[in-house]
Amino acid sequence: MNFQDRVIESPLGALAACVVWVPLAIWMIAVIGWIVAGEIETGPGILAVGVGLTLGYLTIVPPAPHLGILSFLAILLTIILFPVYKAVAHRTALNALDFEQLEKLDETARLRPDNVYAIYRMAVLVYDRGFPGHGLALLSRVLPSMPESHFRQEHQTYRVWRSNPLPHAAMNPTPCPHCGRTNDLGSLDCGHCGRPYLKDLVRGRWLGKGYVKPFISAWIVIVLAVVGLPTAAQLTQTHPALAISLIAIQLAVGAWLLLRSFTKR
Ligand SMILES: [Zn+2]
Repeated sequence: MNFQDRVIESPLGALAACVVWVPLAIWMIAVIGWIVAGEIETGPGILAVGVGLTLGYLTIVPPAPHLGILSFLAILLTIILFPVYKAVAHRTALNALDFEQLEKLDETARLRPDNVYAIYRMAVLVYDRGFPGHGLALLSRVLPSMPESHFRQEHQTYRVWRSNPLPHAAMNPTPCPHCGRTNDLGSLDCGHCGRPYLKDLVRGRWLGKGYVKPFISAWIVIVLAVVGLPTAAQLTQTHPALAISLIAIQLAVGAWLLLRSFTKR
């Protein structure tokens, strides 16, 4: 079929084939940049380049006109999601760094309980990052050992925190992640089972649910549903065995990804 026939058959599909190189170039440049900067590993990066090229090919040489448009839309959706992906990946990396810092402070506080400054820093970290009740309790505990003449900033922080009313939920004791019983706010260890309390509570919130993997899983499932399955279905007339294998593989991959996202916390 020559280009004129394609324009007559599907003007939108022909238009998509003409302009697809723009979003495709953005896709390629972004992914190669991430690989070079070490922001994604080489394997998944090459896979992302391969998926982009495949969708680009399907846009330009579609097995059916509507598939060209769907492939084009999948490419557009993907590059629109790039900034969201970057933000999610950035937040995950920050959480990991914050948790690493918390682990070090927790270790210092155990080895040297007189190190009030480590506990102060721990208080600030958890206060700022979702556990204000625990932060306030930790600071209240060490403040009497911090003379205001030497620790002016710390006392100032305390006054600011006290003047900001905390939501009720932040002041309620949270159940221990191990035994489920409640502990006083700011406890380092569980008073019932003796296992690390605050550190493991924070770990659950900051690291427990990775957001990058569910995000990528959702994207793969959408691309399979929108482009992969219809493309395979298109092959049933000419290559039935190949079509059935492709459909089976895609359904299996999609089901596995969905199950993993829903079952893993
Ligand atoms: Zn416990």
